[in-house]
Amino acid sequence: MRVLVVEDERRLAQALQLGLTAEGFTVDLTHDGLSGLARATDHAYDVIVLDIMLPGLNGYRVCSRLRAAGSDAGILMLTAKDGEWDEAEALDTGADDYLSKPFSFVVLVARLRALARRIGTRAPRRTILGDLIVDSAARTCTRADTDIALTPREFAVLDHLARRAGEAVSKREILEQVWDSGPDSDPNTVEVHISALRRKIDTPFGRAAVQTVRGAGYRLAADGG
Ligand code: CA
Repeated sequence: MRVLVVEDERRLAQALQLGLTAEGFTVDLTHDGLSGLARATDHAYDVIVLDIMLPGLNGYRVCSRLRAAGSDAGILMLTAKDGEWDEAEALDTGADDYLSKPFSFVVLVARLRALARRIGTRAPRRTILGDLIVDSAARTCTRADTDIALTPREFAVLDHLARRAGEAVSKREILEQVWDSGPDSDPNTVEVHISALRRKIDTPFGRAAVQTVRGAGYRLAADGG
């Protein structure tokens, strides 16, 4: 599960990153509202832990802009104390849950897991592109009613492209999203999986849904059917 923590108290942010990583989450940090918004817009997160009092852009604003941009990530807001917290305003902006500081780490983890489960069930996603259907919930792929067997990594690459269908997605982004890898990882890994996907979902059907976007990466688009 991929989590973004937007929290300007750096020691707290780092403690959360350490703790949540130990719980098996993949965690990214940002320390102000604007970079949090940019990060959450450019990458797919399951859950966002969003402090309210942030430099640049406060948590309410970040949350409402994310929802306006169509983000369906689970958003848990953090507040310094009950007094400054306006639950109605937070829920108006599209937050799913909140926690008052200081909070118990164990409670935070439980709430994040519960939130991720709710998000998972509220949006079972199917992407339909011509006769290609990618079912993110069932983790299946069919073309012209034929089930296509993919490895978990191949499916993860396809699923990420499907979530951004019609858009160019960079190799770097695919690496980050599918392999959780750092800046020195090898883009060839992505190419190998893209080739495998084409051999399975396109070539046998005479299609070319997995497109190369020169200089930019790849795009999944409807082709035939
Ligand atoms: Ca703060």
